[in-house]
Amino acid sequence: MSNLYIKGQWLEAEAGGLREIRCPADGTLVATVSEGTRPDAVKAIRAARGAFDQGTWPGTSERERGALLLRVADLLVRDKAAAARAESLDTGKRLVEAEYDIDDVVSCFRYYGGIAGTDAGRVIDTGRDDAISRVVHEAVGVCALITPWNYPLMQTAWKVAPALLAGNTFVLKPSELTPSTAILLMHVLQEVGLPAGVANLVLGAGAEVGAVLAEHRDVDMVSFTGGLETGRSVMSAAALSVKNVALELGGKNPNIIFADADFDTAVDFALTAVFLHSGQVCSAGARLLVQDQLHDRFVDEVVRRAELIRLGGPFDESAESGTLISAAHLEKVASYVKEGLAEGAVLRCGGSRAEAGELAKGFFYLPTVLDECHTGMRVVQEESFGPVMTVERFTDEDDAVRLANDTSYGLAGAVWTQDAGKAQRVAGRLRHGTIWINDYHPYVAQAEWGGFKQSGVGRELGQAGLAEYRETKHIWQNTRPQAQRWFSG
Ligand code: NAD
Repeated sequence: MSNLYIKGQWLEAEAGGLREIRCPADGTLVATVSEGTRPDAVKAIRAARGAFDQGTWPGTSERERGALLLRVADLLVRDKAAAARAESLDTGKRLVEAEYDIDDVVSCFRYYGGIAGTDAGRVIDTGRDDAISRVVHEAVGVCALITPWNYPLMQTAWKVAPALLAGNTFVLKPSELTPSTAILLMHVLQEVGLPAGVANLVLGAGAEVGAVLAEHRDVDMVSFTGGLETGRSVMSAAALSVKNVALELGGKNPNIIFADADFDTAVDFALTAVFLHSGQVCSAGARLLVQDQLHDRFVDEVVRRAELIRLGGPFDESAESGTLISAAHLEKVASYVKEGLAEGAVLRCGGSRAEAGELAKGFFYLPTVLDECHTGMRVVQEESFGPVMTVERFTDEDDAVRLANDTSYGLAGAVWTQDAGKAQRVAGRLRHGTIWINDYHPYVAQAEWGGFKQSGVGRELGQAGLAEYRETKHIWQNTRPQAQRWFSG
């Protein structure tokens, strides 16, 4: 297998390692891919360093780089069916969801391709007629891009598109569980004629390949999406060479339902908020906060509908949600539920593995609702990253805000009310990076995405998502230099 893409060549792993990728929905073998190790990572870093320092790619005009991104978008539209299928097989997610994901990937490349050349920096008014002062943007250099398994190509696109637009070179390390679409993207980048060494791909385990990328002194920036603990170790490894760091970590996201919310719509979205992709979404609305007087009726209806959710494999058209990614992840989700129950949560539905018929071949977990929860519970504070909704009650606006902010995360949240003033007040007081009002989950490539507090550092998407991949430089030119005679000698 030659799945490592380094300096424009498809290579085998130096140590000859291979990894089997199996669909988590039924265990079928999807692919056998190269498993890189430290020497492969170092080789890829050297290739990216060489391509950056040689200067051709960072020296192209931004418009030229933007045009290339637009071409990437076109080729991904052409390859959409293959990309969606590969994504579904690796993750076990429903094909229709993977198709939406590829559309979003295309939008991301189109957005960054479209803004190329629109921000050339600025000229400063120095108040002097003998000086020109300009502030310009330049590429950061060699970027390490490390991505997770839940939205493999989308998380990759959020990094690759702005990194390339800004003129960087990079080494991409996707999750070892879901490498297929990263390989596909590299083929597309090769096809559009990206110079050798600008884009490099190393597959392999995080502790082996990812750790090298995070610590290596020839890497100027690391952009990481993944779990909190891994994010901490990436940040501390990056500190050794004081790299630029961008982190997109987890979330424990509150979905706040006021008594005056549109009942049916709020119930409907409360389900999508947490059970979409079996809760394996960083912005999942896993914490349902319901105003006291609405609590019983609302939770009864959520439970009634949660019990009807049909689980199934990627190509089962009757399925509404899919599998968890692995046996280890299934164990983790189950242990959070168990602990929540031991701490006094009330199980309203789910609470176990789904094993009926074909589901026994995968890692399916039943949509689960835990009622009567409080912020002291681990299942409320930590990310289970599964189809587990915890329910808390609140009394009024202040109480809702207090509870919603009582988390060390700060990625996203939602507020449901028909009172526009209340919605805006609450949105303004929530310490989370994205707030939805009477909605859940939408995002657009033009708007920044990222977390407050321990949900991360920096932003992806939007203008700020590009700024992460740029250095800012001030250039001052004295057009009539004369000796100052500051010192008399
Ligand atoms: P993870 O932290 O286990 O792995 C993420 C990536 O880091 C993988 O490529 C992995 O191989 C690599 N890695 C592991 N150890 C490493 C190390 N020591 N050094 C460098 N890299 C290492 O996360 P995951 O389980 O793949 O993904 C799920 C997590 O991602 C969840 O916590 C979720 O909230 C988060 N996530 C966040 C966002 C966001 O936008 N904030 C988006 C998607 C996922």
